[in-house]
This record gives sequence, structure tokens and C-alpha cells, in this order.
Amino acid sequence: MTEIPMPAAFLGHGSPMNALERNRYTDAWRAFGASVPRPRAILMVSAHWYVNATAVTAMARPRTIHDFYGFPQALFDIRYPAPGLPELAEEVADAVRPDAVGADLDGWGLDHGAWSVLLHAFPEADIPVVQLSIDARLPPQWHLALGAKLAVLRRRGVLVMASGNVVHNLRAIDWQRPDEGFDWAHRFDERARELMSQRPHDIPELVGHPDYPRAVPTPDHFLPLLYIAGLAAAEGRPAEVLVDGYAYGSLSMTAYALDAGKLLIASGLGGAATLATSLPPDAANV
Ligand code: ZN
Repeated sequence: MTEIPMPAAFLGHGSPMNALERNRYTDAWRAFGASVPRPRAILMVSAHWYVNATAVTAMARPRTIHDFYGFPQALFDIRYPAPGLPELAEEVADAVRPDAVGADLDGWGLDHGAWSVLLHAFPEADIPVVQLSIDARLPPQWHLALGAKLAVLRRRGVLVMASGNVVHNLRAIDWQRPDEGFDWAHRFDERARELMSQRPHDIPELVGHPDYPRAVPTPDHFLPLLYIAGLAAAEGRPAEVLVDGYAYGSLSMTAYALDAGKLLIASGLGGAATLATSLPPDAANV
């Protein structure tokens, strides 16, 4: 156990094509990965493992899952060969008691919500990764509370990451607006930002926001945010915006970091931001 908690982050993953591209979002993910102390393992909450169960991957060699279609072959050729860490499955089960978490031995692996950001943040793929499913049966308040319970793992060298999108409406996508967001997307994303920076424990109140039905037509990409909000609430510290922006009108790319030291952060007003990093002396990869 260490007194200094490992940082944590929510990354807005957007299109799977971000796995192949280099842009200011992927640069921000890369800067985050480079800034954190080397984790013992990564616990990843991905929007794309949204099932009627609470489970963690518990296999030694999780496979790379290509859970999409209609994209270039180059995306299907990607492998992210990070090992698993079966013992972390037991630590997660201990941390979340009395909630129960199942050990998934061969059903899942690493989905593109996980690997499309990890291959930028940790390109060496040499840090063990365990995925935690999002239990679709349970309300936002439950996910916030589960996130808070994971705080203990941060003091055991575990980097908790969540991957989704605060605003995610595929039916409303406008391909003519690659770097813009609709007014309602801005309103919802900005409200989320206020809460994450001031009252992260209140983030479930976004469910009552007038733009919630359009911003979050299904909860899968929104709920990962609640895990980082739960961690922020557990520590009594706000989350900081790592990078922000919009894609195709109806996606928010906003990312948040918690306890990321002086990893710095220029938010993308007008889409013209650049990401600056200023690393504290204790943030080397050791
Ligand atoms: Zn996604």
C-alpha cells in the first residue's frame, strides 16, 4: 500500500478509427500514459462490455476483440497483446464486497473501447490489463458507488481507466461536422464538466438533464464516466479535463483525469487547443 494514489482517467474514445489515427485526442491519451508512474496493472471499464452481469476478465492472456464492422481491414489486424492478471480479479472482488463480481475466464477479452485508447496510452502493451464489465441492470447511482469502492486499488498500483463518451448518439451523427457538436451536445457536456469539477458525487443528476435523452440514448458510453466520478468523490477531489472537443455533432470527446499531477491540460475551446505537459519530478515511469 502506498499513500499516493495512482492517477485515474476517463477517456472519450469516439470512433474506432482513433486507434489508427494520430490527433489531439490520441496525443492527450499518450501524454497521460507517459505521465503516470508505471502501474502494476490497468483496470479498464469499457462502454463495450455492457452486459447483464458484473464481471472481470480473469484470463492470463486476454484476446483482442474486434467488436465492430464496416471498418478498414487495418483495424481488424490490430492486436493489443497485453497480458491479464488473474489475481487482480480476486482483488476487485474483495474491494467491491458485498457486491458480487464474477470471474470471466474465456468469454471476453479486450474490446476496442479498451485497446483503441490503450495502444496510444501504453503502446508497449506490457502492462497487465483487466476489464470490468458494466452491469446493464443497475442504475447510475450504483455505478458511482462501485467506482468509489475501487479507490483502494489505486493505492496498490492499479490504474483505473474508463472508456466511453459523455455524449454518444450514433443515430444523430452528422458526417459533415467532423469536429463540431450540436448545441444540445455542448449543453450536456458542459453540465457534466461543471459537476465533475465541483460535485462529482452528484453526476447521476445528469439523468434529469433536459438533453439527457438525446445525449445518452443508451447508457453504455455514459456509465464509464461514473466510475471516475466515484473515484473523485471517494477522494474528495475534482476531476480535471484532460482534453475536450466534439465529433460528428453527436459525440463528445471530453476526457478527465484524476490526480494526474501537473499533467496539463489545455481545453479545446474552438477546437484549437494543444495539449501541454509538465511532469512533476515524481512522475517518471519507475
Ligand atoms: Zn464506443
